[in-house]
Amino acid sequence: MATNMKPEKTPMPEQDPMVRNRNFEEVAYGYTHEMAIEEAQRCLQCKHAPCIDGCPVQVKIPNFIKCILDGDMDLAYDTIRETSSLPAVCGRVCPQERQCEEVCVRGIKHEAVGIGRLERYVADWKMQNGSIEIKKAAPNGHKVAVLGAGPAGLTCAGDLCAKGYDVTIFEALHTAGGVLMYGIPDFRLPKDIVQKEIDGLRRSGVKIETNMVIGQVLSVDELFDMGFEAVFIGTGAGLPRFMNIPGEGLNGVYSANEFLTRINLMKAYSNEYDTPINCPKRVAVIGGGNVSMDAARSAKRLGADEVYVVYRRGEAEMPARLEEIHHAKAEGIVFKLLHNPVALHGDEDGNVVAIECVKMELGEPDASGRRSPVAVEGSNFKIEVDSVIMAIGNSPNPLILQTTEGIEDRRGCIVVDENMRTTRKGVYAGGDTVTGAATVILAMGAGRDAAAAIDSYLQPKLENED
Ligand code: FAD
Ligand code: SF4
Ligand code: SF4
Repeated sequence: MATNMKPEKTPMPEQDPMVRNRNFEEVAYGYTHEMAIEEAQRCLQCKHAPCIDGCPVQVKIPNFIKCILDGDMDLAYDTIRETSSLPAVCGRVCPQERQCEEVCVRGIKHEAVGIGRLERYVADWKMQNGSIEIKKAAPNGHKVAVLGAGPAGLTCAGDLCAKGYDVTIFEALHTAGGVLMYGIPDFRLPKDIVQKEIDGLRRSGVKIETNMVIGQVLSVDELFDMGFEAVFIGTGAGLPRFMNIPGEGLNGVYSANEFLTRINLMKAYSNEYDTPINCPKRVAVIGGGNVSMDAARSAKRLGADEVYVVYRRGEAEMPARLEEIHHAKAEGIVFKLLHNPVALHGDEDGNVVAIECVKMELGEPDASGRRSPVAVEGSNFKIEVDSVIMAIGNSPNPLILQTTEGIEDRRGCIVVDENMRTTRKGVYAGGDTVTGAATVILAMGAGRDAAAAIDSYLQPKLENED
């Protein structure tokens, strides 16, 4: 039974909005021990625990919360780690309000238990007070290649390594982590946190080869020739989409991926790095998802005076996490809702100077259940800007499909069956490259399912060898 019946979550201490919008330090400081206990006491320890089903990887939420109350932090960590391989990451970036917390019983009348905040507290405690290792089985002599070191690839590799497989991850970039490193900014997910999780995997025996663009440096066929018996493709969805409106080729127009990669991976905001980046004064970010919020908040931190988020639907339809919308507003980002860009205008030197929009109204719900926007005729107007960042979505990069025979795709996403198998024997896939841009926890869940499927595929060989 809960001993804390406060209707609201224990508040999360965070940087002042007008200070943090000029630095890249983490916004939320995390709970102290006393705050974590206070929040853990709000959990009702429900027998049927709907929160567990709300979590895509079914973290045993009441169990780990009970461990916090009992003071057994190692067990709290191990309980989360049974099903989630990157707890410090998920505690920070999972859309909890649409997953575990959405169905929390405390949330029916008041605010849900702060499950993500407690998960982060446990994971951070473990990083500060223990070492993150995977318990390993004896080597079984079987080799698996994992393509891409994002959440899907890292989870698949970690699970297989724990079962005794010899696993090598091939990563195109010079750093492992995928979107966790190049997409989500430090102020939401500090990079040392991601690297600590990855170091744990390395210490457990996962090999990571960086600067290896599969499809260019090596092909999937060559990996099989090298003795890998199964391949997992977790190459994500890193190809930015554009709107195909006039002016997208002007100077000062970025894809959010390029803008964020320069900031996150190449530290364009730091004087110690010479990564070039345009520091605009008036920026429009097109789109209403997490990527858009990250780009807008990063632009503000680079010194922009005015940052607009331009989105063609209303706030209720925005796919971004509520917390990120709230943070962006507090930091001074201006939301231009029900505005649809139709053209970008430039000066005689080819620099973008304005974005032309039409006003929109919400009509009937579309296939996604969201009310579809309808243009108001003759409502065109311009917003003056020095830079435009396109954040309207990403698709999988076609390189692997173009260089590998026998893998079927549907509109660029790799097709898999219920066992994560592609249409080519021995090749599995999961994460954003299968679903299109989704979430960290869904990519991790896919990596986990694929590891189990690869194990069953190679298991008969193990039995035959005995
Ligand atoms: P990725 O993380 O994209 O990793 C794929 C990896 O494969 C990359 O490292 C890439 O370099 C590598 N690769 C690609 N091609 C090759 C190749 N040919 N050879 C070798 N390696 C290759 N989700 C949330 O849950 N919460 C959030 O708050 C959130 N915010 C986001 C913010 C941004 C800016 C972005 C872009 C995404 C965000 N997401 C968020 C989505 C989430 O990050 C992704 O769904 C998740 O990272 C997908 O994991 P993945 O492993 O499938 O792919
Ligand atoms: Fe909630 Fe994400 Fe943790 Fe699952 S992994 S319990 S959805 S924060
Ligand atoms: Fe605790 Fe909410 Fe889960 Fe019930 S539903 S066990 S109150 S976290």
